[in-house]
Amino acid sequence: MGTPSSGPLRLLRESHEERVLTALRTRGPLTRAQLADQTNLSRATLSSIVQTLLAQEALIERAVEGASPEAGSGASAAGAAAAGVRGRGRPVSVLSLNPGGGLAVGMDLGHRRIQVTIANVGHEIVASDAIACAERTSWARRVQLAITLVEDLTTRREISLTSLAGLGVGIVGPVPSDRGAVVHQALGERFGVPVFVDNNTRLAALAEATWGAGAGVGSVLYLRLSYGVGGGLVFGGRLFAGATGAAGELGHISVDRDGPRCPCGGRGCLELHLSNLLDEYGGFDNLVPDAITDVATRTGEVLAAACNTVNPEVVVVGGELTDAGEHLFHPLRRALREYTHTQVHRTLRVTQAELGYDAAARGGIALVLTNPPEEAEWRRTSCS
Ligand SMILES: [Zn+2]
Repeated sequence: MGTPSSGPLRLLRESHEERVLTALRTRGPLTRAQLADQTNLSRATLSSIVQTLLAQEALIERAVEGASPEAGSGASAAGAAAAGVRGRGRPVSVLSLNPGGGLAVGMDLGHRRIQVTIANVGHEIVASDAIACAERTSWARRVQLAITLVEDLTTRREISLTSLAGLGVGIVGPVPSDRGAVVHQALGERFGVPVFVDNNTRLAALAEATWGAGAGVGSVLYLRLSYGVGGGLVFGGRLFAGATGAAGELGHISVDRDGPRCPCGGRGCLELHLSNLLDEYGGFDNLVPDAITDVATRTGEVLAAACNTVNPEVVVVGGELTDAGEHLFHPLRRALREYTHTQVHRTLRVTQAELGYDAAARGGIALVLTNPPEEAEWRRTSCS
C-alpha cells in the first residue's frame, strides 16, 4: 500500500499554509491570536504551520509597540502594526509576510492629482509621491505621467521592481469604461504584471478597511462626502463589487424624490443635492451651519437605509465635508439612530476616515494583496 496517507495529509497541510499566507497577505501583520481567529486553525496546528513558514523565511515575527494585546477577532493590533504605532500598551509580537517577498504598486489617477504609493507584501509602505495634473489631461497622458512617477520614485529610492506582484489603480468614474481600458492596457504593457483597475472612491474604502479607521473590522461601509459622493463596501477585508462593479454608489440614492434629474438616471440624488449646495455657497469652506445640518440629516437617512441592508460593524465617513466635525457628525448620527433598525444600530460605530490623499493609491495596493496570485487575471476591467 506504500504510504497512502501522505498525499492527503500533505495537501491538508498545504491548504493550512495557504490559509495563513492569505490571511497575512490580505490583513497585514497579525498576532498569533488574531491569525488563529482569521484562519480558524487550532493553536497547535497554527503553531506548527507558523514554525515551518518562519524556517522557510516566508514569514517574519517582530515586536510592535502600542498594540492592544487583548484584541481578539478585531485586528486592531494588525492596524497598529501596519500603521507603526497606535494607542498604548505593552509590546506584542506580530507575524507578517516576509517584506522581501514582493511589492505592490498603488496608483490614484484623480481629477487633478496623480498619486503613486509602493508597499511590500508585509504591508509596509516603502515609497510614495504625487504630482498635480490639469483636469483636462487625457487618460493616456495621465498613465504616462504615472509611469514616469513610478520610474523616478524607484530610481531615486533604489527600489527594484523585479518582484512586483501587481498594480492596483484607481480611476475617476465607472470602471468598465474606455478610460479603464486605456489605463489597463498601457500599464499591463509597461510592467508585465497583473493590473487591477477600480473606482478610486471604492479603493479609498478598501484602504480604510485595511489600514485606516476600519482596519481589522469584518464589515465596513465607507462614504465619501466630497465634490462627488461615493462609497464602498468591504467584507472580510475584500471589496464587494456587486454585479457590475458599482456596489456602494451611495451618492446616487435619492434624498429628494421631486429633485432635479441626475446624470446617473435618478432624481434628487445625494451627490446632486450636495453639489447644488456647494454651487450656491461657493465651496465647502462657505457652507453655513444650516446647510451642513441639512446634508448631514439626509446623509444619515441614506446611511440608515444602507446599514439596514448590509448591517456593517463600522461606517467610515471621509471627504472634505468631514472637516465640519461635529457640525456634520452630530446630526448625521441623530438621523442614523432615528432611521436604523435597533438591532443594526446597537453594534454600529460611525467614525471619521483616517487616511489622507494617498487613500485610493493604498487601496490599489490592498486590491493587489487581496487578490490571490492565481486569480490575478486582468479581470477587474472587463473592458475587453
Ligand atoms: Zn444620481
